Amino acid sequence: MSIGTHRPTVITVDGDAIRHNVAAEIAQLNPDSELFAVIKADGYGHGMTHVAKYAAEAGATGFCVAILDEALTLRAAGFQQPILVLGIVEPCYAQLIADQKISVAVGSQAWLAEAISYLKGNTVVRVHLALDTGMGRIGFQTPEELHAALDFLTGHDQQFDFEGIFTHFATADEKEQTYFETQLQRFRDFMAVVPRKPRYVHVANSATSLWHQVCDGNMIRFGVAMYGMNPSGRLLTVPRVIHPAMTLKSALVFVKKLPRGRSVSYGATYTAAADEWIGTVPIGYADGYPRCLQGFHVLINGQFCEIVGRVCMDQFMVRLPEKMPVGTEVVLVGESGSQHITMVDVAEAAGTINYEIACGFSARIPRRYV
Ligand code: PLP
Repeated sequence: MSIGTHRPTVITVDGDAIRHNVAAEIAQLNPDSELFAVIKADGYGHGMTHVAKYAAEAGATGFCVAILDEALTLRAAGFQQPILVLGIVEPCYAQLIADQKISVAVGSQAWLAEAISYLKGNTVVRVHLALDTGMGRIGFQTPEELHAALDFLTGHDQQFDFEGIFTHFATADEKEQTYFETQLQRFRDFMAVVPRKPRYVHVANSATSLWHQVCDGNMIRFGVAMYGMNPSGRLLTVPRVIHPAMTLKSALVFVKKLPRGRSVSYGATYTAAADEWIGTVPIGYADGYPRCLQGFHVLINGQFCEIVGRVCMDQFMVRLPEKMPVGTEVVLVGESGSQHITMVDVAEAAGTINYEIACGFSARIPRRYV
């Protein structure tokens, strides 16, 4: 992937915002609780190792990632803290996991049994048992299954360190709480068969930590809110101030007067109703700026300017209020004058969630850290 350092499209990541969001969350936790920063998917598009550094500076004591490669990248970058892989890693990597002192989510006894066959020498695999209380993704299905796996772990304590146990809520970001309560009860039913709690018991993502007084745990997996984004979009109000960390800006690279009746972009879906000033912005759907955003807007000099015509792979066009010079700043996510465009604004216009927009910005857009 060639990074576009020679075009004026840049993501800026504000380290102070991340530090603030982490510190503010830690201040709300029980004193015996820890915060693990969720930095999978390249730190939700913000840049994994940079976010890891900011989060650690603000008090995060560990990290969560989705895949083994992300954990290995963190280790290679020198991070010594606990790292938990939240997804299932194939058992054939058990020795690598052990050597690198990485912790992994395990959702079945079969995984443990298979992993043993790949272990050589005197190393242990750190496991966090995943409990499926209603997410339906990974994890033990019943307390009986869990009980059997715990027995297995007890019999194989030279190979495994039972370091954690956790679940994940499917509806923590919604107003309706019935499903959440059902999951919580199932979690407690599971925990009733655990004779000795492991070091980490964790149930909370951002939404659970922000909106549920769940005290079943001593660690939270803090993701989207660390980046200053509301996990619920606009549905629920975040009970403390969080600062968005990501800004996306570009600049006009071409400006022209389009005569009335002439059209713009593929499909000729926009036709100028009058003579209009049209600017071209060098970012498109190959950068993760969704193709469907025709009719949405950007900010130029504090004014909303409509996206006209289809967003192309690498460029799109906007209608300008007047002639503007090439090089004029274009704000796609962030502030301009007294106006702003949030990640949720973009997400709603694209029919998705803020998470998907942030982590969808491609590696072609350079990240600048301030
Ligand atoms: N825990 C698990 C198991 C996850 O899959 C995720 C993210 O998807 C998180 C925690 C972090 O969630 P959030 O970004 O909503 O805080």
